[in-house]
Amino acid sequence: MSITESVEQIQERIADACLRVGRKPDSVRLMAVSKMQPLPSIEAAWNAGVRLFGENRVQEADEKFTLFKEQHPELELHLIGTLQRNKTNAASMLFDCVQSVDREALIDKLGKACTSRPKPLPILLELHTGEDSKTGFPNIDGLCRAVERVLPYSSLVVQGLMTIAPNTEDKARIRASFRSLISAYNILSSRFPSCDWSCLSMGMSSDFETAIEEGSTLIRIGTAIFGRRPA
Ligand SMILES: *Cc1c(COP(=O)(O)O)cnc(C)c1O
Repeated sequence: MSITESVEQIQERIADACLRVGRKPDSVRLMAVSKMQPLPSIEAAWNAGVRLFGENRVQEADEKFTLFKEQHPELELHLIGTLQRNKTNAASMLFDCVQSVDREALIDKLGKACTSRPKPLPILLELHTGEDSKTGFPNIDGLCRAVERVLPYSSLVVQGLMTIAPNTEDKARIRASFRSLISAYNILSSRFPSCDWSCLSMGMSSDFETAIEEGSTLIRIGTAIFGRRPA
């Protein structure tokens, strides 16, 4: 299947999943996760109408997207992988959002790095909900402390939450992971009502329909758009 056909098929599956739970199809944003994919594949996804891309390494994203972004000002690029502290300056210039904010020390690093940005950097706080992934704040207390840590930085703006579900066939465990993110969202949006919590980034190629049923507003799709990643 071509990248265009894959994107169309995913958009249909998004619409079907939304219909099942009475949501509007345009309430879910589609991100193409282009890590390990070459520029021609990224161009194909762009031509198929994708405007939001995700990468998990700063240097790889920099190499592929710096020029492409200049040529395509509507393109939005998010970081979805662990950010090392020595990459925060580069990340603050390149990305339109860092979804993988997973520890307090990183908030300070980013907060300082982003003072040179023209606009504050949108961030998502990552919640650890799957036993297999090791990244993310462990629980609601960790998330609350993270919000308190972000608030003094005018260079950062919280826009929601992100999680990676466990890599398992067990549908119940996957659904439970998405539900813990939604329950964190409910608590945080009442405890910090002045923050924007509208972006709930959950769901990947193998589980995005479940994520949409549970309330995801942004799905991160790699394999189902591009095929298997080159080794
Ligand atoms: C690689 C990756 C994805 C996409 O995974 P697929 O299973 O290929 O859709 C989504 N989110 C994160 C954080 C990733 O690292």
